Amino acid sequence: MDKKPKTAADAADFAHIRDWVFDLDNTLYPHHINLFAQIDVNMTAYVQELLQLERDEARALQKRYYHEHGTTLQGLMLHHGIDPDGFLERAHAIDYSILLPNPELGEAIEALPGRKFIFTNGSVPHAEAAARALGILDNFDDIFDIVAAGYVPKPAGETYDKFASLHRVDTANAAMFEDLPRNLTVPKTLGMRTVLLTPRNLDDVLIERWEMLSEEDDHIDYVTDDLAGFLKGIVPG
Ligand SMILES: [Mg+2]
Repeated sequence: MDKKPKTAADAADFAHIRDWVFDLDNTLYPHHINLFAQIDVNMTAYVQELLQLERDEARALQKRYYHEHGTTLQGLMLHHGIDPDGFLERAHAIDYSILLPNPELGEAIEALPGRKFIFTNGSVPHAEAAARALGILDNFDDIFDIVAAGYVPKPAGETYDKFASLHRVDTANAAMFEDLPRNLTVPKTLGMRTVLLTPRNLDDVLIERWEMLSEEDDHIDYVTDDLAGFLKGIVPG
């Protein structure tokens, strides 16, 4: 790594930021909550029923589409012409009560100067339900979801362009928070500050290798496992 990402926020690095852009899953709540495990099960069941497959076959196909197209949904749309709304509803029919209110995070987001967005490969209802459970929904100005993205997920460049033009975001004065390194490549080229959220204890979680930080990730300015604490370093209370 040419330039090792920093772990504590240097407030001067964020002094020019006017738009704060947050991924949702595993970013606004930590990876170990594993909300995705429930979504994962629902997606497998959907694929299983749609194509009349055994569970293992359905799961393998689901993962293949995720790898090849960025989301399982995109693969299902391209190869099977499914209705995205029905899929999203089914995928996100989960129990959000495992997400607990995080007033510390809400206050830290509130204190940031400028607009705050959720930019997710999930749906608006999913983002709203998750942010509401965390008690931080009111801290955001808007949510840009997979429907607004025309079902083309991050890390596709056109999706970031769509987001930025819809909300008139000047990317040179914006920051992006994400848990997937590949989703920060385009933001960096657009001039955004990039912050990668990592799991608290890497040994305790199962992460696919291609989702991990690697030697080539010099597009990441900061790495942190504590979003609220990091944000407080930008705007000390
Ligand atoms: Mg995420």
